[in-house]
Amino acid sequence: MLVDETRLHIAIQKSGRLSDYSRGLLRDAGLKIQNGKNDLTARVDNFPADLMFVRDDDIPIFVSDGVCEFGIVGENVLREFSLGEDSPRFEVVAQLGFGKCTLKIAAPEASPYEGPQSLRGARIATSYPRILQRFLDDNGIDATVVKMNGAVELAPRLQIAAFICDLVSTGATLEANGLRAVETVFTSEAVLVRTRKPMAEAKVDQGAKLLSRIDGVLATKE
Ligand code: ATP
Ligand code: ZN
Repeated sequence: MLVDETRLHIAIQKSGRLSDYSRGLLRDAGLKIQNGKNDLTARVDNFPADLMFVRDDDIPIFVSDGVCEFGIVGENVLREFSLGEDSPRFEVVAQLGFGKCTLKIAAPEASPYEGPQSLRGARIATSYPRILQRFLDDNGIDATVVKMNGAVELAPRLQIAAFICDLVSTGATLEANGLRAVETVFTSEAVLVRTRKPMAEAKVDQGAKLLSRIDGVLATKE
């Protein structure tokens, strides 16, 4: 597909916790999305925009590079990306009120915990190494960050790490794995991001229109 310079590109998660909410928000904003679940892109019939369905982790780079002018992504993913960049080229233009979760450090239920000092010298498994490292630095704690791309909650049982740092919403997953939360590292929700890369004038106008429609939807939900 050749990139059409007159249409906005909006990146949303293809399938996962943010997908239905993201589509729902755009629909509520009046965008008619035509596609099947397996398509990678969808044309919006009644607005000059195309949707791109991608992994959530790819959304910051797409928006930063201006491949997509807008994206919907969790603040957790955005912050992990930003901590690895000198100057990320996007800005958060709306807090969306869904995808709420908290990045927490958790320990096996039976293990003693007496505050952040208990993390000293320990191994902590996480998919968010930069956010965790920043938290440790801010608290003056020397610990080893072990990066895992999934199944982080298994790390203590597999003796990969004594602690984990993972996203929690209800806490059911922690409990099911014999873990308990001991520190809150970062609180997150889904946000709308806009590229800081210069856009053609027509796109700037369409982008403003999109944003005002989304703001309108959000206002009715407050
Ligand atoms: P992808 O295939 O797109 O990479 P993923 O497995 O990384 O998907 P999901 O589990 O679908 O991602 O989560 C997407 C986002 O939903 C998270 O980055 C976070 O912002 C939010 N979220 C809300 N609650 C939770 C939760 N309990 N656990 C994980 N993520 C959550
Ligand atoms: Zn992901």
